[in-house]
Amino acid sequence: MPIGSARMLGDLQARGIDRLRVVCDKCERSGSYAVARLIGFHGETEQLPDLLGRLTRDCPKRAADILDQCGAHFVFGRGTGPNSEASG
Ligand SMILES: [Zn+2]
Repeated sequence: MPIGSARMLGDLQARGIDRLRVVCDKCERSGSYAVARLIGFHGETEQLPDLLGRLTRDCPKRAADILDQCGAHFVFGRGTGPNSEASG
């Protein structure tokens, strides 16, 4: 799946991705967001790096030393497993 070419929220929806997870290894945080809901808030042209910045704005690592920055990144979800695309 060429998910690497997705640049904005609308790209995810076009690929059938309906859940977006944010995971930060350094802060041990994780959150799950519905793509449709994010589009409702930010619009489908919201750039993914910008969105990541918004969602992790309260991460204590973001303002810390540049050598030890927040490690938040997206994990893209599609159903609950590789063979469950029909759900929902
Ligand atoms: Zn973090």
